[in-house]
Amino acid sequence: MGSLGLYPFQVPEKVERLLATTRILGRQYLRPLGLEADRQGHAHPPDHPLYAMLAQAGYMERRLAQEAPEEEDGDAGRERWGARSAIAALEEASYWDRGMAVSLPGPGLGGPPVAQLGTPEQRGRFLSIFRDRSRPRWGAFGMTEAGAGSDVARIATRCERRGDRWVLRGEKTFCSNSPRADWIVVYATVDPALGRAGHRAFVVPRETPGLGPFKVERKMGLVAYETASFPLADCEVPAENLLGGEAAYSGNAGFVSAMKTFDLSRAAIAAMALGIGRSALDHASAFAAEAFDLARPLNRHRRVAERLATMGRRLDAGRLLCWKAAWLVDRRMPNSLEASMAKAWCAQAALETTSLAMEVLGEAGVVRDERVEKLFRDVKAMDLVEGTGQIQRLVIARRTLDYPRDEGVGR
Ligand SMILES: Cc1cc2nc3c(=O)[nH]c(=O)nc-3n(C[C@H](O)[C@H](O)[C@H](O)COP(=O)(O)OP(=O)(O)OC[C@H]3O[C@@H](n4cnc5c(N)ncnc54)[C@H](O)[C@@H]3O)c2cc1C
Repeated sequence: MGSLGLYPFQVPEKVERLLATTRILGRQYLRPLGLEADRQGHAHPPDHPLYAMLAQAGYMERRLAQEAPEEEDGDAGRERWGARSAIAALEEASYWDRGMAVSLPGPGLGGPPVAQLGTPEQRGRFLSIFRDRSRPRWGAFGMTEAGAGSDVARIATRCERRGDRWVLRGEKTFCSNSPRADWIVVYATVDPALGRAGHRAFVVPRETPGLGPFKVERKMGLVAYETASFPLADCEVPAENLLGGEAAYSGNAGFVSAMKTFDLSRAAIAAMALGIGRSALDHASAFAAEAFDLARPLNRHRRVAERLATMGRRLDAGRLLCWKAAWLVDRRMPNSLEASMAKAWCAQAALETTSLAMEVLGEAGVVRDERVEKLFRDVKAMDLVEGTGQIQRLVIARRTLDYPRDEGVGR
């Protein structure tokens, strides 16, 4: 065990090594390539040498172990660190560039539903491809639609069984990494009137006729990964691609699998927001140290020092929330309250930190090509993805006050 100072508890040597590697990756590749993507206005192509290099080095397997772990790792006595090492690495990668961090190959958000709901045969078929180091591969998660963002119960993409196939019809929006994904987990409904009970989750391979074309959104920030809309036009998938098989869909299983995805992903988004906030804080601190005499008492620059202290305090408090949420995942314990608290707090803290950092820099803060200006554009989406801040606050209120579950709002 060792401690890096930044993280709230001692971490195993393995996690320290992972962080050290992530730091090198971040400094050498993520920061410069993130800036380049932002300037050129689009993501780097899937055949960029960085992605091939990472695939060859076994990066996708590592992500698989963290994001879609096997149910049992065969050693019940050993403490699991998957979730905590994932959030630590994601904070560090996002410190260097959050857009590039999301663009890296791996199962991504598509991993957890396959791992949790998929049969052993499906887990083998869809997840083992990430053990093949010959080329980079991506997974994606397609839930959001134009009329169903926060309220995922309202998804309208239809699925209909025809013999040994399912036919999907509808349109998905804002699906990250989908244009380059080998497969996308697509949520559809057998009947919208059934609400959550009608949900089914399918793995749709990229070559499936009727999938696409993909329209990449022009985002204000996080340009380094593609977020796209796409139609499913009579898109046929074999019955074996229904995750878990039909027996798995008694009650709300399809919906529950999507929600379980958020146990780790909300803490992960929170950690990524912290990474962006920490980057803004470091940049503002370096700027202030050079520009002002922060040590002089009763100097107007003391206010700058106070702002920097406020940023650090908020980020540190957020890190504790994140680590608690991830620790619960590692112990296989319910964490929706803690994950929502982490997400609600950290996204807001990072947004405020980045805004305060711009203030510290003054006019320099709003100049294009200034790191804080990019961070400000990158950070805003952190309050939206994986359930907005308002939705997290609803979840927190419900869990804290033991309200009955609202059929309307899923996230
Ligand atoms: C960069 C980016 C990447 C994304 N990647 C993915 C992805 O890979 N896969 C995927 O499926 N989706 C993805 N999304 C979509 C994301 O999950 C949705 O944007 C999010 O769930 C919010 O949905 P919405 O944008 O439709 O907002 P809406 O649900 O339309 O909400 C609009 C506003 O109303 C508020 N609101 C809604 N309902 C309530 C309520 N009951 N009480 C109080 N306030 C409420 C919301 O908080 C929000 O402020 C991504 C989004 C972004 C920005």
